[in-house]
Order: sequence, then C-alpha cells, then structure tokens
Amino acid sequence: MITIKIEAELTADANNYLLGCGEVRQYSSEEVGIRLGSLGLTKKRSKAGSLLLLDRETSRRIHPLAQSYGIDKSVSGCADCEALRPSAR
Ligand SMILES: [Zn+2]
Repeated sequence: MITIKIEAELTADANNYLLGCGEVRQYSSEEVGIRLGSLGLTKKRSKAGSLLLLDRETSRRIHPLAQSYGIDKSVSGCADCEALRPSAR
C-alpha cells in the first residue's frame, strides 16, 4: 500500500505549494487531516503519524475532485484520467 505521511510530507508540500502561489496562510497537519477527511479521503493512523492512503479508492475520489477545482491535467495510461475525458463520457 502506497501512503503519504500527512504531517511530515503532505502538510509541508501543501504549505510550500501555497507559498509558491503567493498565499501567506499556512495549515497545520491537523487542519490538513480534517480537510482530507471532509473530502472523503481515507486516512490511517500509524506509529509514524497519520497517513493518506494512495489506493484505488483515493484515486477514484481525487480525480473528480481535481476536475471540480478546474485542474485539467491528465496522466497517460491512468484509467481514472481516461474515465474523465469528454470522449469517455
Ligand atoms: Zn489520473
């Protein structure tokens, strides 16, 4: 199972991304965890802290979320990207 550490990895990446966009607001790992949960993404507790599971369910959930936020990137060979393409609907 591929995972990403919410505290050590995802929160830092999200805050760095926001800084790069000119956003001054920074989020705590608790806030990031709450937002992930509110988006319906699956988290798991471990000895290393909270993890976001990068499984099929997360992929299926993230693709329409990205589309709803106007992100139109597509990865060649990704079935979930392919399913969202206009020609596949
Ligand atoms: Zn994809």
